[in-house]
Amino acid sequence: MLAAQQALIRREVEDGTGAAVGVETVRDGAQTGLRLWFDDLGRARSPIVELVPRGLKRYEARLRFASFSAGTITQMQVAQPEEKQLARALIRSAANGAEVTIPGQSLEGWDIRDSSFSIIALQKGVEDRFGADALTATCRAMVIPMLAAMAELYGYDPILPPEAPTLEGEIEGTVLISVVRRRERNPRNRLLCLRIHRPICGVCGTDPTAVYGDAGNIIEVHHIQPLSLAGEPRAYDPETDLIPVCPSCHRAAHTRRPMPWSPDELRAILSRDG
Ligand SMILES: [Zn+2]
Ligand SMILES: [Zn+2]
Repeated sequence: MLAAQQALIRREVEDGTGAAVGVETVRDGAQTGLRLWFDDLGRARSPIVELVPRGLKRYEARLRFASFSAGTITQMQVAQPEEKQLARALIRSAANGAEVTIPGQSLEGWDIRDSSFSIIALQKGVEDRFGADALTATCRAMVIPMLAAMAELYGYDPILPPEAPTLEGEIEGTVLISVVRRRERNPRNRLLCLRIHRPICGVCGTDPTAVYGDAGNIIEVHHIQPLSLAGEPRAYDPETDLIPVCPSCHRAAHTRRPMPWSPDELRAILSRDG
C-alpha cells in the first residue's frame, strides 16, 4: 500500500473522529487490509477496526476491543445519553451502504456491555477490490463512522477557542450558545451531518468544493434550533437538528443571539430583490 494513500486515510479518519489514530497494513495471504486504533490509547487498550477484503467483491470492517481495554470500556459506558445517541446514529449511517451487525444486539439500542462487543460491517459489490480507490471508499463508508462512534463514546474533545466575554444578564443565552457551539464544533456531529445531507449549504445552495476546489473543504455544521428559549426544552436529535451551511450563511445565522436566524428566514432575506 502506498504511503501517500495511508496518509490520506489517516487524515480523513482523524478529521472524522477528532482523535489521533494509528494505522498499519494487515496482510492476509495475498490480500492487503488495514488496522486502525486510537493512537493515545495504544493498540493494547483501544477499540480496533480491521478492514479486509473478503471473497471476490467484498470488504469487511470488524470492530473489536484489544486485550487490555477494560478501562477504556468503563469510560465509554458512562457516556451521556446524547453521546450514545450520536454514536448509534453514526453506526446507522454506515448501515446505509453496508450490512451492519452487532452480535446479540440491535442497531437501534446497542450498548458496550463488555470486551466481547463487536460490530461487523460488510460491503458487497466492490469493483476493482484491490484498487487503491476501493480501499479508501470502503474506509469512508464503514471504518470512519465506526471509529467516530467509539470516539464520541470515549469523549475525545475538540479543541474549542475560549468563549467570548459576555454581558451580565445574558447568562441563560450564553449557556445555550455554548451548548450549541460545542455541538457544532464536534467533528462527529459534522461527520454525521455531512453523511446525511452532503456538503452543500442548506441555506444558499453553494457547494464550496465546486467554487474553491481543493481549498473548498470549508462547509460548517449549524444547529438549527438551539433549544427553545421559553417553555419546553426540545430533545436534541443529531439526525434532524443539524444542517450543513457555508461560512457566510453561518456567520449571518448567528448575527441574531441567542436564537439564530432560521434557514427559512435567511432564505427569505437572500431572495429579496436587491
Ligand atoms: Zn450559504
Ligand atoms: Zn450555527
